[in-house]
This record gives sequence, structure tokens and C-alpha cells, in this order.
Amino acid sequence: MDKKTDIFSLTFEKLAKRLIENDFPKFRSQQIFKWLYEKNLFDFSLMTDIASSERERLKSMFDSGLNEDVKVFRSRIDSSEKFLIDFKGSYVESVLMPSKERVTVCLSSQTGCGLKCSFCATGRNPGRNLTSGEIIRQFMHMALKSKERITNVVFMGMGEPLLNLDNVLEAIEILNCDKGIRIGARKITVSTAGIIPGIETLTRFPLQVKLAISLNSAIQSKREELMPIAKKYDLKNLKRALINYQDAKNKRMTFEYILIPGVNDSVSDTRALFEFAKGIDCKVNVIPYNPVDKKFRAPTKRETADFFEKLSPLKDAVTIRESRGRDINGACGQLAGKSIFQEEIK
Ligand code: SF4
Repeated sequence: MDKKTDIFSLTFEKLAKRLIENDFPKFRSQQIFKWLYEKNLFDFSLMTDIASSERERLKSMFDSGLNEDVKVFRSRIDSSEKFLIDFKGSYVESVLMPSKERVTVCLSSQTGCGLKCSFCATGRNPGRNLTSGEIIRQFMHMALKSKERITNVVFMGMGEPLLNLDNVLEAIEILNCDKGIRIGARKITVSTAGIIPGIETLTRFPLQVKLAISLNSAIQSKREELMPIAKKYDLKNLKRALINYQDAKNKRMTFEYILIPGVNDSVSDTRALFEFAKGIDCKVNVIPYNPVDKKFRAPTKRETADFFEKLSPLKDAVTIRESRGRDINGACGQLAGKSIFQEEIK
């Protein structure tokens, strides 16, 4: 028997095409998307506006069960919840972050990451790419648990999204689809360590998703030490790609800057940051480092405030991201191995 297709991996157009090829009426795809993503009902047997003989055929063609084993952990410092999802032995972490104004989810794109950033736990375990279906399944598990409708999505979980671009873009289409989940493209952020070919593909991608760059240093040699991928994609070429992206999308982007005391917090670091940011409409998110081992330490409140002061020429464009569940995943990754989520919710 043929392997069933994961229904969550299919964009609306792909599902429609598959159904038409198999002699289903054209409007079935619309009905199925409605059941899955509006009514959150996944069992074909219960899709009552579809003829029962067709429901049996759908069951034999598609896997629509949301059957993964999921553990949910509560944050000790805010209302965030971490979901640990078992995709057949590959453990993936996602975070649900409700706040007054919005409900954000942080999704993983890979089961680890091979980029070996020196400050990151995820980067020590190269994993595999997640399928578009596995990305959407993360979203659906959190959507079922969330009290409010999810409004924002950030690809800042485990992995480098631009190294799994086909599946990430497909997942973005499903998230954005007006027949299904309906997350506005401007509410979706993709965070990258600076994979230039991926940024170029995103520049041509028709949806207006937001871009975040895990920068961490604007000094080439230092960035290479922190993020070895910077040897391949250097700051000069990265800046060129970012300016092209901005010219095409006309949207403000974010630089994520993990603050590590004694490493990237000096006056020459801020000077390099100003220089790099020149000509780019951006904001800078400063993220006080969360240690994963003894190599680097966390900044004190004083050190963070001092750095903020040094960035004062950027004025309103600087934020410090503290005390939110998302901080445990830094700019992209840093999610694995964190102890902030301790108590499992039964
Ligand atoms: S910080 Fe991001 S890019 Fe770097 S190793 Fe971690 S997950 Fe990969």
C-alpha cells in the first residue's frame, strides 16, 4: 500500500490538485481546509458535509491524525509554555507565548542545527530538516492548547530556517492561506544566521514576511568566532543582500544581538553596529545571554543597561528582550537544553 500523505504538509493548491486528480469535486479542498484549520477537527469520518464513500477514500489517501506525543512545560517567569513534540524519535521544541496584545508561537524548522554558533545549544546537534507538515503540526498542537487565537509566528526555534527553505516557505503559505489558518504575512518573522542565498530567495518570495538577522557582532572577525557561518557569508555581502531585500519589500527588519559581556559589548562593538546598520531600516533587539555552559556568562542588569546606553544614538530602534519565554531561544535556536521551563503540565 502507498504511504499516506501528511495532510498538514499540503498547501491549499496542492491539496486541490491532488483531489481533482483523484476525481473529487473541486470544492472538497475548501471543505477540508475549513474542517482542519477553522474547526480543528481532523478525523475524516466526522467531516459530515463530505459523502461517506469519499471520506473512506480520503482516509486511505491522507494522514490527518494529530497523534504526536507532546509534553508541555510551563515557564517559571511568565505565561509562556514550551511544547516538546516527538516526531517519530526526533524531538522538536516550540513555544507558545501569550501576551496582552498578541499570541505568538515560535516554531522550529530543523531537529537541530549544524551551524555551531559558539553560544548556542541547538547548534551542537546537527539534525534533519522538518517537513512542512511537521512545521504545521507544531502550530496546530499549540493552537489547540491556546486559549486565544494565535496571531503571530516566529521561526526562531531549533534550526536555521533558510537551510530548509522549501519546507519553510510551504509552511508559510499554509499559515497565511485565507482558506485556512489566516496568519497575516506581516505577522510571520523568519530569523536567520545570515544565509545569503536564502535571503535572496525570500526577496523574490511574493509574501511580505518579516526578516530577522541573528547578528551578534558587526565585526567580521568576531562574528566568525561566534558564528562560523559568517566565514562563508561575510558582513559585506550580507549587508548587500539585506539592502536588496529592503528595496524589494520596503519593510523594517530586526537585528538580534545576543549580549555577551566582555565579548560583544564594547564601544568598538557598538560603533561597528552603527556602521552596519547605516542605510538599513532596522531595529535592534538586544537579548541578554542565557548561558548554556561555562564558556560565556550572562550579563548583569548593570552591564545590559550600560550597553543600552551605548546604543542611545539608535534611540527608539533598540529594545531589550528580557523575561519572556522567547528569550530562551535567543535569536534562532538556543532552545535546546534550557532549564527555564521546568514544571511539566499534566
Ligand atoms: S544560534 Fe541559530 S544558527 Fe546558530 S547554531 Fe543556534 S540554531 Fe543554529
